[in-house]
Amino acid sequence: MNYFSTRDLNKKSVSAGEAICKGLAPDGGLYLPETCPAYTIEELSAWQNLSYVELAAKVLKPFLTDYTEEQLFSCVQDAYHYPKFDDSRIAPTRLCKDYSLLELWHGPTSAFKDLALQLLPRLMVTARKNLGISETSLILVATSGDTGKAALEGFRDVDGTKIAVFYPKYGVSALQQLQMQTQAGENVAVFGIKGNFDDAQTGVKTLFTDREMEETLKESNMSFSSANSINWGRLCPQIVYYFASYFDLVSAGKIQMGEKVNFCVPTGNFGDILAGYYAKMMGLPVHKLICASNANRVLTDFFATGTYDRNREFHQTASPSMDILISSNLERLLFLASEQDASLISDLFASLKEEGSYTVSKEILCRLQADFAADCCSDEEAFEVIARLFETEGVLIDPHTAVGVCVLEKYRKTSGDMTECVVLSTASPYKFCKDVLFALEKAPASQEDPFFLLEELEKKSGVAAPFNLKNLKSAAIRFEQVLEKEAQKDAVLRFVSEL
Ligand SMILES: *Cc1c(COP(=O)(O)O)cnc(C)c1O
Repeated sequence: MNYFSTRDLNKKSVSAGEAICKGLAPDGGLYLPETCPAYTIEELSAWQNLSYVELAAKVLKPFLTDYTEEQLFSCVQDAYHYPKFDDSRIAPTRLCKDYSLLELWHGPTSAFKDLALQLLPRLMVTARKNLGISETSLILVATSGDTGKAALEGFRDVDGTKIAVFYPKYGVSALQQLQMQTQAGENVAVFGIKGNFDDAQTGVKTLFTDREMEETLKESNMSFSSANSINWGRLCPQIVYYFASYFDLVSAGKIQMGEKVNFCVPTGNFGDILAGYYAKMMGLPVHKLICASNANRVLTDFFATGTYDRNREFHQTASPSMDILISSNLERLLFLASEQDASLISDLFASLKEEGSYTVSKEILCRLQADFAADCCSDEEAFEVIARLFETEGVLIDPHTAVGVCVLEKYRKTSGDMTECVVLSTASPYKFCKDVLFALEKAPASQEDPFFLLEELEKKSGVAAPFNLKNLKSAAIRFEQVLEKEAQKDAVLRFVSEL
């Protein structure tokens, strides 16, 4: 399977390994596989009883044809195991009364990003070996909170890589910030930015195509790569758990093999839900993919009108990992929906860059609406869901997952579509103790200290917090630097010269 860029008119292709090592295409576009493998339901039935590791190897194999079967299996096996994931099923599906929750936060940093970022470094190291790359890969990451930590944990002390992470200083939770500030490893750097996630992401994307940067890296025998979901190696591992969850519903007797389900996905950069779209294209029986947003409802408006307009107020919400106005992976979806029209994509994204908006044709919008539904909710609505689910079913969820549940409820009410639905549960509630406690108690806690709040939540819920979060209490802070948003380039230049 070869890959080409969403913006390349000539469709010059590269191998999966090259796409993964590069991250972003040189023309600023995103790499996509030339075709999508497809399976019949009979073929898929044979995967029903596989372990997560075996399933991952099956799902990924047709996308990663330049890896040997042994290489792929060993990457997957190293990435997903107990006790690195605190549940041996890796991504278990929990049945609730009216829907199910796909728990994606059992990994080492308690967010769904671990499912991708435990595998990506292994895929990259293997590809580097296969391709004979000797340059050091410099991984630049813009994070809205969870990617940064998951990427740091995935790449720390990985041979031939260095990683620098930029997070919005006032846009992440106390524990998320501590997770990054205390990161161990000799090849890591972490910077707070005086700006929001979009500022951090735009800065990183600009550096990727900066000539001076490129020269400097060459002199230091380095090259850029990305651990954001613009990297295909981040996205393809996420396809796996849609299959896993579907098979879990069949095993639990919730659905018959072949019956369609909906997936409701708390969405920011559009990576997670795009992986669901790939699962559907591969033949998984999916009816609708429901795109759930918080008050930053740019995607809700886009799916309703066909106009993507980032010229709007940025809201800081209780689901910070979804506080995004530029959803990068939408580019991949539009490329697919426009029948691979690279020139249209180049025009749309030039317009996004220059005017902050673009509009797709009615025809494309119709196609998108056949597969996707979208809605949004406020923090208050999400808090109400957190309290209600805990009170009625004893299930504790985080604010991102709550956005998913809330939007599912709205979708069912407006559409009448009661298809069995899986809501992707994207983070542990303990990453967001303050807001979750506030939702449950309907009043602010007596103290702000994150570890006090963590213990309060444990007492209240009777559910133990993940060790990686509890252990932060005794971890030393290593990274406290906060930069003006224009200073990302200088910070990277300094990081490069230090090495
Ligand atoms: C990253 C993240 C999301 C959004 O996922 P995208 O792939 O960016 O759409 C949702 N919830 C949590 C907890 C996240 O960390």
